[in-house]
Amino acid sequence: MIPQRVLLIIPPLTQINTPYPSTAYLTGFLTARGYDVWQADLGIEMVLALFSRDGLSQVFARIRGIPEEDVPAAARPMLALQRAYLDTIEPVVRFLQGRDPTLGTRICSGAFLPKGPRSTDMSDDVGAFGTLGVSDHARYLATLYLEDIGDLVRETVAPQFGLSRYAESIGTSAGSFAPIADALDRPLSFTDELMAQALWHHMEATDPTVIGLSVPFPGNLYGALRIAQAVKCRYPAVRIVLGGGYANTELRQLNEPRLFDYVDYVSLDDGERPLLCVLEHLSGKRDEAELCRTFVRSHDRVVWRDGARETDFGQGELGTPTYRGLPMERYLSVLEMLNPMHRLWSDGRWNKLTVAHGCYWKQCTFCDVGLDYIGRYEASPSKLLVDRVEALIAETGQTGFHFVDEAAPPAGLKALALLLLERGLTISWWGNIRFEQAFTPDLCRLLAASGCIAVSGGLEVASDHVLERMKKGITVDHAARVAHAFKQAGIMVHAYLMYGFPGETIAETVESLERVRQMFAAGVIQSAFWHRFMATAHSPIGLDPASHGIRITPRTFEGFAHNDLTHEDPAGGNPSWVGEGLRKAVFNYMRGVGLEDDVRQWFDRLVPRPGIRCDATARALGRRARLDDPDGERRFVWIGGDPVAEPFGHDRRRLILPTCTHDEDLRLSSAHADWLLTLIRRATPVREQGGEAYPSLKDTRCQYPLGGPKAFDVLLRTSAWKKTRHAGLLLV
Ligand code: SF4
Repeated sequence: MIPQRVLLIIPPLTQINTPYPSTAYLTGFLTARGYDVWQADLGIEMVLALFSRDGLSQVFARIRGIPEEDVPAAARPMLALQRAYLDTIEPVVRFLQGRDPTLGTRICSGAFLPKGPRSTDMSDDVGAFGTLGVSDHARYLATLYLEDIGDLVRETVAPQFGLSRYAESIGTSAGSFAPIADALDRPLSFTDELMAQALWHHMEATDPTVIGLSVPFPGNLYGALRIAQAVKCRYPAVRIVLGGGYANTELRQLNEPRLFDYVDYVSLDDGERPLLCVLEHLSGKRDEAELCRTFVRSHDRVVWRDGARETDFGQGELGTPTYRGLPMERYLSVLEMLNPMHRLWSDGRWNKLTVAHGCYWKQCTFCDVGLDYIGRYEASPSKLLVDRVEALIAETGQTGFHFVDEAAPPAGLKALALLLLERGLTISWWGNIRFEQAFTPDLCRLLAASGCIAVSGGLEVASDHVLERMKKGITVDHAARVAHAFKQAGIMVHAYLMYGFPGETIAETVESLERVRQMFAAGVIQSAFWHRFMATAHSPIGLDPASHGIRITPRTFEGFAHNDLTHEDPAGGNPSWVGEGLRKAVFNYMRGVGLEDDVRQWFDRLVPRPGIRCDATARALGRRARLDDPDGERRFVWIGGDPVAEPFGHDRRRLILPTCTHDEDLRLSSAHADWLLTLIRRATPVREQGGEAYPSLKDTRCQYPLGGPKAFDVLLRTSAWKKTRHAGLLLV
């Protein structure tokens, strides 16, 4: 058997504040199976090499070698400030890495950083600084400074460069491989060279026999193939496997042999089984025909190999992801937008896990529900998940978690929250959810108590007719109530929105904007992003466009990527000026501007008046479900502090129920106080209690010792009960 040494690479460029988790998962998995595995994030290494005195010196030197007439006008003032840029770049990087916080005051002084075009054009944001601390203000200015340098680099020495993507346009909707091959035939750009230097360092240090390239997005494809090209040239014996989200969605119909000039294997869907099969094949333990979901080239043709008899690994068999080997202390916490929800994406280091594989709903007609990453639902056992949380905290020292599910299941989140509380783990976490009614106000409070700080979810088109057509399974009123419950629990809410859905008229889009305005005005969402509907090849709409009323525009498929489809929509089809109006509206709403104004003002052309009441959201929020339905299947959980009991008159007690913000003060008969204290004790999370051990509402009612079920129903209406619920007695 030939032992395999594996180097897993995240190619430029995903995020610069935290590693993309794919290699961490595969490293944990392969390590647990005894392989020698290393991982590298060439994106952050390339960025750090660029944002250094030496890197910038080379940028300026190369720009000075460009004929003057070809130097962009915006670059000239920056060239004049070369020395200031060189003197400040490394201190700024250290500051954004959290290694020199005292520099913040100097950055805020305004005289320290040279000002490029973006830094100069920030007058709109100045008002917000009053609400930001020095550190945030300085990080925002430092981010603008880096973005200015990034723009300069892109316009002069590396047209592919962006702060969070690399040559994205090359990988997007690339039906033909020809433009990609052309780009790869060109000489290396300056940032390509930096990437190659980082690559050689890892090749020498690890001497791999196999390289795994993780390509999650179109903006990673060019970098991945540049890496593959360089390796094939210098280390022709090394085998290269390409996989990840881009391959899973875009390369399912791959029929382009030239891709295999760069890589040897292209695998689809979850990477563990396919990669393991490739390693076993290369070790002589498995025939090529027994690979798993993998394309190879054979006699200059692309061939699909899927003869493995084994199934995919279950959640419990995957091992704990590990970030070992990634430069965790060197990521840059940038602050791109002042909006607090947007900050979570770019700011801070987040350990990434999933509560489940796939989506438990898997019905939305625009979504890739047929693909494995959505369609194969498997929940992670909560104990396993929290074991992984503990392992990652021990390894990284970071207590922030981003649960990167497509839509985390409410039951899974509840179990996760209970176990976090039972183990007394203090973490901060956020993730993606569906705005469904299972997220009751009490469940939201439980999630908040376990460390949830934010959720994002698809509100899509805030119009009930369209939500029904897209089989979203929610109504706008439900979504508003769920968002309100999160907000009441102190959890931020971000809504994903869509326009141009098949059959959606401009009137429906305007109605949708009006509902979104009302939700911002009511404070139930704090952040939103509106994108244009795009039919994709693997969604129900893409697979059967006619029954959704659209026609797919025929496009020549030349054997490479196939996912995004262009379509004609005779009944709807919002023009792009609508999108611009929506973008403007949401941008202002996130800053608290224009919340009481007519939504039609945001569009450049006349649009219909929204056909809904201006208090539709307020009315929806006013219609609350009864909390304590005695027939419910819920259980009591106590999230308040330890109660204090003291005698109060004859056969009465005073109970103080403490919370972090206030105390609730109850005067009860001794019998009633004892019963309540017992209930609270039984409902308090203690280590490894397990969901079944919490007292159920049904049993508690039936067994109520102070008069039976009828007396219990009376109790539910008392102010003492309401105070107890308020202090932290949840029903979940
Ligand atoms: S859009 Fe979200 S909720 Fe709907 S099927 Fe896809 S992942 Fe699930």
